[in-house]
Amino acid sequence: MTEKQIVVLGAGYAGLAAATRAGKRGRVTLVAPEARLLHRIRQHETAAGHPEHRPALTEVLRGRAVRHIAARATELDLAGRKVLLDNGDALAYDTLVYALGSRTARLGVPGADEHAYTAERAAEVAERLRTADRPGTVAVVGGGATGIELAAELAEAHPGWTVRLVAADRVGGWFSAKGHDHVHRVLRGLGVGIDEHSAVTAVDAGGLTTTAGRIPADLVVWAASMEPHPLAAEAGLAVNPAGQAIVDDHLRSVSHPEVHVVGDAAEVTVPGTGTLRMGCATALPQGQYVGKLIAGRTDKPFAFRYVVQCLSLGRRDGLVQLIHGDDSMRAGALTGAAGRVIKAAILKSVVLSLR
Ligand SMILES: Cc1cc2nc3c(=O)[nH]c(=O)nc-3n(C[C@H](O)[C@H](O)[C@H](O)COP(=O)(O)OP(=O)(O)OC[C@H]3O[C@@H](n4cnc5c(N)ncnc54)[C@H](O)[C@@H]3O)c2cc1C
Repeated sequence: MTEKQIVVLGAGYAGLAAATRAGKRGRVTLVAPEARLLHRIRQHETAAGHPEHRPALTEVLRGRAVRHIAARATELDLAGRKVLLDNGDALAYDTLVYALGSRTARLGVPGADEHAYTAERAAEVAERLRTADRPGTVAVVGGGATGIELAAELAEAHPGWTVRLVAADRVGGWFSAKGHDHVHRVLRGLGVGIDEHSAVTAVDAGGLTTTAGRIPADLVVWAASMEPHPLAAEAGLAVNPAGQAIVDDHLRSVSHPEVHVVGDAAEVTVPGTGTLRMGCATALPQGQYVGKLIAGRTDKPFAFRYVVQCLSLGRRDGLVQLIHGDDSMRAGALTGAAGRVIKAAILKSVVLSLR
């Protein structure tokens, strides 16, 4: 009997966790261009110029029957059950794990492509800040978790620069009153200017145009939203309007059950919890589950409850917001050094959980 071909696309939190678990029982081929974990949840640290902590994929995959191909998938032939790669190869599969994640969305704002840096270009942001003739103004666009982490980190690491955090509505508005107040207190303490209710309508070489007026900036960092990788929709998997593949309770594509979709690429709805938000916190357990499912170590539906939401606020502070299992807020939050220490422990545990 020939061995089943298991192919995993993407080596983010979801793809790697799936590959290491499936690779305990069978041979797996993992396709992703990078040699080290992308580690997106630390990209704000990279942008501020801190050293990178990105384990090599060979380290994460040690002891597993996983072959890593350093390439990009360019096309998915769902009828022929094969993936075309940018190195010219075609990979046949019996089971595919699609974990191509997401990327920063510019939301069609004119000039954002040309004039704004995203977290994916964190190393270039660090270089721009390091080599600038003199400090200026950096505008971070997006009042969500990524924008807050970026603004705090940049302000702390580059106190000579003026950092402005620009948001279409409220910055951290979804947190409990305690969590929200802490975020604003720390940002203010770091000297971050907060421009709320200022939707960005255009970006140019001199800064931002917003619904509340002009914000001059020497450097624009864009963290307004995330969009799923487009390949799922292009290939003809059933997707939602945002382009995330729709999956069943075993994280199988509803249109192509031989394809599991995990992480930011999937729209996952769990009874009692709701539709999961994009995040490492949701991607990692999905990957772990599908890896076990493929290895025959579970046949139960995917189950998930949220535990906490946490943010780093520079190197010295953090926020751990207590939440209910469905992601709704509790009043309590851990702040300051306690928040920072717990966030750091979570970052460590993420890498350990990939194996
Ligand atoms: C600065 C920042 C901070 C964040 N902080 C948090 C946080 O504290 N908590 C939290 O829950 N979430 C956080 N997030 C969000 C989190 O990083 C993402 O939701 C998470 O990375 C999604 O994981 P994933 O495995 O689905 O996909 P990704 O991490 O996006 O990985 C996708 C993988 O697919 C690969 N790939 C892409 N295109 C191709 C191709 N064509 N062929 C082959 N491979 C390809 C990539 O190289 C990568 O290996 C943060 C994001 C950012 C940017």
